[in-house]
Amino acid sequence: MTTATGTQQLYRAYNPRPLTKEEINDVEILFGGLHWRAERAIRAVFENLGYRARALPVATRKDLQTGRELADIGQCCPTSFTTGNLVNFLRNEAEKVGPAEVARKYVYLTAGSCGACRFGQYHLSYELALRNLGLGDFRVFLMDQSRLDQGAAKGGGLEINMPLTLGAVWAVLCTDVLQSLEYRVRPYEVVPGATDRAVQESVDYLCEVLRKRPHRDGTWRPLMWHLTTSYFVDALREVKSKFDTIEVNRLQPKPVVKITGEFYLQTVEGDPNYNIHRWLESEGAEVYPASIAIWLDYWMRFYVQNFEDYVGIDRYARAKIAAVKTLQRLFHWTYNRLRGALGNIPHEIPDQYELRRLAAPYFHHRLSGGEGDMLVGKALWAHLNKKAHMICELSPYACMPNTMSVGAMAGVVGKHPDLLYAPIEVKGDAEVHALSRCQMILTEAKKRAIREYVEAMEWTGLTPEDAQPLIDAKPETKRATYRVPHYGVVGGAANMLLHLAEISGRRQPSQRRAA
Ligand code: SF4
Repeated sequence: MTTATGTQQLYRAYNPRPLTKEEINDVEILFGGLHWRAERAIRAVFENLGYRARALPVATRKDLQTGRELADIGQCCPTSFTTGNLVNFLRNEAEKVGPAEVARKYVYLTAGSCGACRFGQYHLSYELALRNLGLGDFRVFLMDQSRLDQGAAKGGGLEINMPLTLGAVWAVLCTDVLQSLEYRVRPYEVVPGATDRAVQESVDYLCEVLRKRPHRDGTWRPLMWHLTTSYFVDALREVKSKFDTIEVNRLQPKPVVKITGEFYLQTVEGDPNYNIHRWLESEGAEVYPASIAIWLDYWMRFYVQNFEDYVGIDRYARAKIAAVKTLQRLFHWTYNRLRGALGNIPHEIPDQYELRRLAAPYFHHRLSGGEGDMLVGKALWAHLNKKAHMICELSPYACMPNTMSVGAMAGVVGKHPDLLYAPIEVKGDAEVHALSRCQMILTEAKKRAIREYVEAMEWTGLTPEDAQPLIDAKPETKRATYRVPHYGVVGGAANMLLHLAEISGRRQPSQRRAA
């Protein structure tokens, strides 16, 4: 490497200055990259363990431009967004207190892995951008996504241990189910703003619960406590009571749009994905958001796949597979307990081996990087199981895994021409073009939702006018937390009519399936 003065230097991997125990009380840990509910909950987990922490503001288009300016020009768009986001935050702080104080006062904690895509290089982009900005002394620490307990970060001030990792995982699971409930309720709320108010109150409440989480030391005790406690289930029951008071009108045929795509773009809510969640709702859709829990489950499936390759070579390979699969079952059980506390209204997480099976003809499960074969698997799963009318896939520019998925989806759509698929390329500066493409497919999805509703009316013999007295006779069906079963049709309105026919004894939806 040649420096500005022309001298030669050897390349050295990034190595942050130590963060000591004496310093940690004066240091604020920065992090980001998730949706706001999960970020607030994770901050509470840090506070529970005695750290000061803050989530960065949601990245903006200005951050994207900064990331492009200060780091590698060829990097994928999430890298540019997150790099620019960190750098702009620190630059603003440096203007107030100076670069030396910024390097002393803040550290950044980010997830890392070995790749196979740009994800393995995020921290190097941050380092390059910070050096270019004159903040080379700033410390970035990596949370290895494949290790639950990685001990103390360099210097001993920050412990990335089981209580921290498990706290973050449970914070994510609780806010995942809350987000799922929120998106199932808001499109149908009778009083505008009621859902947003309940979500704000629920996040505040969950943060308080996480801040007061009992401490368990060691490796296995925290794990056993998190798996067996009713602490989080009770907290979510309290959250459910906040939603109980929301009145909904489900007799509105709306297209259900499943969000898939690259992890960062599908998770955040803001400029990095053109505010697609809110935009879809404003266009009359019900959004089926991407859950972070599915990524954690995929990560465990990846271990199983690695061990599968060693069956016959490593004598313990089968035992290792069984151990990870047991962990996966416990994970699903935990997720379903949390869903259950919210009346089973949040969406379920699909079985990873079913996703792999569905994707197999189009995308090899050993192609890692990004979401791997999951994009194809999730699209087919949602389509074949009537979970969504349409798939909206958020694809970053310069992303190798997503480009491969979009290519593979051409084969999927060839075999399943009735699958409505809108791949949206996110460039940061082509919002009108991307949303207009999405709108074209959404128009077709709306027609399907209405067709389905009309068919349900014909089959049940119930018009909306006939249905209303049935709803009034059972006021609990107006509650946001009342669970309407899934009768093999996608839309909430069609399912509601079939349900009313069933509970009023007019017709049994099972007869419809048989017919
Ligand atoms: S999956 Fe794509 S967008 Fe995400 S980090 Fe990897 S290369 Fe970048």
